[in-house]
Amino acid sequence: MNVKKDNPLLLSIDAPLPLFDKITANDVLPALDHILQKQRESLQTLTAQEKPNWQTLIEPLEAMDEELSRVWGPVSHLNAVCDSDDLRKVYQEGVQKTSAWFTELAQNEALYAGLKYVESHQSDLLNHEQKALLKQSIRDFKLSGAELTGDAKKRFKEIRLRLSELSTSFEQHVLDATRAFTLSIHNEDDLAGLPDSAREAAAQRAKEANQEGWLFTLDIPSYLPMMQYSEKSELREKMYRAYCTRATSEDLDNSPVIDELLALRQEIAALLGFEHYGDYSIATKMASSSTEITTFLRELAAKSRSMAKREVDELRSFAKEHLGIDDLQAWDVPFASEKLRMHTYAISQEELKPYFPEANVVSGMFALVEKMYGINIRQADAPVWHEHAKYFEVSDSANKKIAAFYLDPYARAHKRGGAWMDDCVVRWQKPNGDLQLPVAYLVCNFDAPIADKPALWTHNEVMTLFHEFGHGLHHMLTEVNVRGVSGINGVPWDAVELPSQFMENFCWEREVLDLFAKHYETDAAIPDDLFKRMTAAKNFQAGMQMLRQIEFSLFDFLLHSECQPNSNTSVQDVLDMVREEVTVLIPPTFNKFQNSFSHIFAGGYAAGYYSYKWAEVLSADAYAAFEEEGIANAATASRFRQNILAIGGSKDIMDGFVAFRGRKPNVDALLKHSGITSA
Ligand SMILES: [Zn+2]
Repeated sequence: MNVKKDNPLLLSIDAPLPLFDKITANDVLPALDHILQKQRESLQTLTAQEKPNWQTLIEPLEAMDEELSRVWGPVSHLNAVCDSDDLRKVYQEGVQKTSAWFTELAQNEALYAGLKYVESHQSDLLNHEQKALLKQSIRDFKLSGAELTGDAKKRFKEIRLRLSELSTSFEQHVLDATRAFTLSIHNEDDLAGLPDSAREAAAQRAKEANQEGWLFTLDIPSYLPMMQYSEKSELREKMYRAYCTRATSEDLDNSPVIDELLALRQEIAALLGFEHYGDYSIATKMASSSTEITTFLRELAAKSRSMAKREVDELRSFAKEHLGIDDLQAWDVPFASEKLRMHTYAISQEELKPYFPEANVVSGMFALVEKMYGINIRQADAPVWHEHAKYFEVSDSANKKIAAFYLDPYARAHKRGGAWMDDCVVRWQKPNGDLQLPVAYLVCNFDAPIADKPALWTHNEVMTLFHEFGHGLHHMLTEVNVRGVSGINGVPWDAVELPSQFMENFCWEREVLDLFAKHYETDAAIPDDLFKRMTAAKNFQAGMQMLRQIEFSLFDFLLHSECQPNSNTSVQDVLDMVREEVTVLIPPTFNKFQNSFSHIFAGGYAAGYYSYKWAEVLSADAYAAFEEEGIANAATASRFRQNILAIGGSKDIMDGFVAFRGRKPNVDALLKHSGITSA
């Protein structure tokens, strides 16, 4: 059988869109094996050249990336949105095959030599997009140890291996410690304050464990309602103590894991010539120095502190007056806060749902971006993976098609939870000169319509949709022609959330909401009183939340940079110091949250946790330009598009931001949007 002729995944390579109506699990491995073998052969030929150049080395590499993503992209998409036993099996096998291939590529020394040859012989002839891709590729090789030789290279590989083992055991300890604790309740009085949903879930959990009564665990959906609603202070305390002492003792203790991780990260940074791991992290980020990051975090902290103090005072007096809690403890904070929130704003997500019927929200969001960017969005025909999914084409003001996207909004069985944007096709000028247009996947998990009632979404869900569409616009409105730096490709991690968080701001704008937020039965706009309450509730305890995020960010960054633990300073010392500096509600000494801080010890956020706040500051400041010049102002939007959305990874994002805003970003807009005043 000729694999190529029949296989819909291989046929998808040259088709405008994946052939979702034809792809089956049986097609996956034959297509993947075929393409990987072909890529290995091509790589050999490419790296055997003595005098490679852009056209003979990098262009073919881009074409290889494209082919593989056309085959593997639809498979990983289907695995997320239409999971089945057959597909999962071949998907997992495929993940191993593709990651083995990516490792081979990243360690191919002949390839690295080829890239450097092009850089030193042809650099002057390349345009800025080509240069950017070449620079990034060489940088990534260097960060993977390509310049190292002899013992250093050997040690580098050993450390990388050990680091991945350590991250795995860190996460495993957290999981095991989380599982090791349960709270069993047999007396219904002990459920006082808990909402029905939490009681039902706890009864169900007990039943599954063959127990009587109600069972609570340290998993967030069980832990959080207990902390927020239980009127039994001693039960909250028990849960709290268990939660923040996870992975602190015996064979699940993460303290030695953390020490070894930090020491090895420091060693790897030093091998590559960096002063510390913080600088290693910055090498791939938008932020330009470790001082820039710590200064930024400290400024935000200083400006939020007095507000946070006022919030704590308010919480203390509320707890005393209304809840009879004279001495507010850490395990009382979520409980008292929830009571105060309800007391002050009395707002629930349910109350807003009737104003957000699906059709209004989707067409309202389209109308907003059509007006801003002078584009048109129209539904069109294309093969899809499920009847829920729709396909749309985007055209410019001259009616020329520039991009397309799929929208798959509803939750269903066999679909991964959460919401995301992913690229389906990347904008790219092919070697033959043809321009390939970008296509995005937008996936959410919202309620579907029931019978003849339209799907009604919460305000949080509306924000999620806008957020993902922001990522989508970043991918679709790119004007870059070099594949590796087009759309979201090559965009630094701390800048990726700029276009997405930017879009969320519109969901708090009366002028924008009035365009589409209409009651599904009466067509009425959101009443003033409700709008005021929802805006006020948004900023509830904003100062305290800001400081909490800064505590995590500053701890993470200092730990990996100027405050490396050593024989005199422990991890706990660094945390205590950070808390002394920024925290308004210092947790009890038994709290060892660092032992379960998976983001930085098991995930990819080491010396990068600050990215959350960084992107928030950028997006708030970018949005402030629209507040100053007019919401949906086409001239402002055009500047935003040209300087930020269009450039992908081809230019420095800070330069783009300055070109858009006329200055560097500052924290004022975020503080203002969060209602944080220092007075
Ligand atoms: Zn996002």
